[in-house]
Amino acid sequence: MTTYLAHFVDIDPSSLGAIARVQEVLAGVHQFKCTACHYCTDGCPMSIPIPDFFKAMNRKLIFENEADALKRYRSTAKKAGVNASDCIQCDQCEDACPQRLPIIKYLQEVADALE
Ligand code: SF4
Ligand code: SF4
Repeated sequence: MTTYLAHFVDIDPSSLGAIARVQEVLAGVHQFKCTACHYCTDGCPMSIPIPDFFKAMNRKLIFENEADALKRYRSTAKKAGVNASDCIQCDQCEDACPQRLPIIKYLQEVADALE
């Protein structure tokens, strides 16, 4: 019989301060908290690869790696044949997003930063 968590070790209380600090820092970083579920993409009349654009933008926002963000954005846009600024603001995606992300505003941010 398999025993799960047989080697479970409780967290060292001395690590809790460091963990809390990391959580605090991450909470303060502006980023797009998209889970890439793709619920937003099926009905987009412009076929905008929303989560892929957000993933590219997060390379800039979280890791401050603008070169990688630009490379990922350009490659995604080229493959999809569409840019973030092609959004016609129909609102379909925001209604479909379980996280209720302000997708239209985020796409504008992507367009401003990476196009
Ligand atoms: S608001 Fe923009 S991204 Fe969202 S479904 Fe409409 S065209 Fe697509
Ligand atoms: S529905 Fe929301 S969380 Fe899911 S991929 Fe689209 S933007 Fe991201």
